Amino acid sequence: MASAFLSPIWHPCTQHKDHEFIPPICISSAKGVYLYDEKGKGYIDCISSWWVNLFGHSHPYINSKLYEQAQKLEHVLLAGFFHEGIMNYSQRLLAKTNFEFQKCFYADNGSSAIEVALKMSFHKNLIIGQKRHKFLTLENSYHGETLGALSVGDVGLYRDTYAPLLFKVLSIQVPYDSHTIPKALQDLENLLRNEGTQISAFILEPFVQCAGGMKIYPKEFLEQACQMCKNYGIDIIFDEIAVGFGRLGSLFAYEQTGIVPDFLCLSKGITAGYLPLSVVLTHNRIFEVFYDEYESKKAFLHSHSYTGNALAIACANATLDLFEQEDILSCNILKREVILSCLLELESFSCVENIRSKGMIFAFDLCNLPYKRAGIEFYQRALKEGLLLRPLGNTIYFMPPFIISEEEIKKVFEGIKRVLASL
Ligand SMILES: *Cc1c(COP(=O)(O)O)cnc(C)c1O
Repeated sequence: MASAFLSPIWHPCTQHKDHEFIPPICISSAKGVYLYDEKGKGYIDCISSWWVNLFGHSHPYINSKLYEQAQKLEHVLLAGFFHEGIMNYSQRLLAKTNFEFQKCFYADNGSSAIEVALKMSFHKNLIIGQKRHKFLTLENSYHGETLGALSVGDVGLYRDTYAPLLFKVLSIQVPYDSHTIPKALQDLENLLRNEGTQISAFILEPFVQCAGGMKIYPKEFLEQACQMCKNYGIDIIFDEIAVGFGRLGSLFAYEQTGIVPDFLCLSKGITAGYLPLSVVLTHNRIFEVFYDEYESKKAFLHSHSYTGNALAIACANATLDLFEQEDILSCNILKREVILSCLLELESFSCVENIRSKGMIFAFDLCNLPYKRAGIEFYQRALKEGLLLRPLGNTIYFMPPFIISEEEIKKVFEGIKRVLASL
């Protein structure tokens, strides 16, 4: 008890009493997939430090680019100013979309990107004279922790406490298997018929609801639901904060759909886990709506102090360099096969169910165990094995940095098996 009160740090997403039996670990250094504590014990970062780290820790190339930038320019406000790095980055990022998008609006974390997309959609509609003050969401979705992002999210654990502070949203069921798609689409059609013209945007995490428990849903639903919304003039917001930047096999998840969203939110992996940065990609046809004399009050007056930070952008440019230099996406196809064969071996454990995967996301649920919190039990034992596998409830997931080697993958799954056998 005493130690919790002695530490000056109030950790995120944490009930501090848990630290009575799982003390927080001080990490002194890191290299590749390994984090090292003060005693030199290594932990394989199986969850990319909350899904941000794509190329391992202390990457020599990103380090050098960051150092180089620090000697030139650390930061300048992005209102009225820009820098070479951010001009390059914006052009490169838009080129990666084949210029399906033409504008980048920057912020400094995922939740803020969501706020930007929601506000931009609402504001755009207001300017063109459409009173659309509602948002449509998927059940079990997660879009971040700020009040707007929490409003469009649906993970009760994070949301319920603050419900009185949140704006109301419309939400629809997610059909996780294909035979429930027709019913879900019918429900959506009914909802749209009643309220479609009042909805500003439909926000969704394409393919995988990550914080909602690594739940995967079919492309047919995603595409048809978006198309139906488009027919009602509703904007589409893809939250690719977790699934973008190669995590699902393509640089952007939307590339795997027939949909080009009106707003595309990116964060997490875009700096390969180095510095906070987020960006909302959108279109000239939306930008144009805000363009007028100052007195028209049409400007989008949203900003954050650190918007477009030059150090973060240097890391983001380095991240794109690495994608280009090493054909990461092709390598991941092979890596995925190796991981998948290890993952499927877990089927033999009676405490494992719902094994699933998409791209470089791999997950299973713990079941039939006598613990109040099986996930936490697993987590603790995995740490002893030198594996960082922070769970989501009883869902265990593997979402490694893309540079993980075959040998390291084998080591992870040997550890996972030992932990499962011990439960
Ligand atoms: C992490 C996450 C967010 C929030 O990003 P933060 O940087 O943590 O604010 C939003 N949406 C999704 C899908 C996420 O995974």
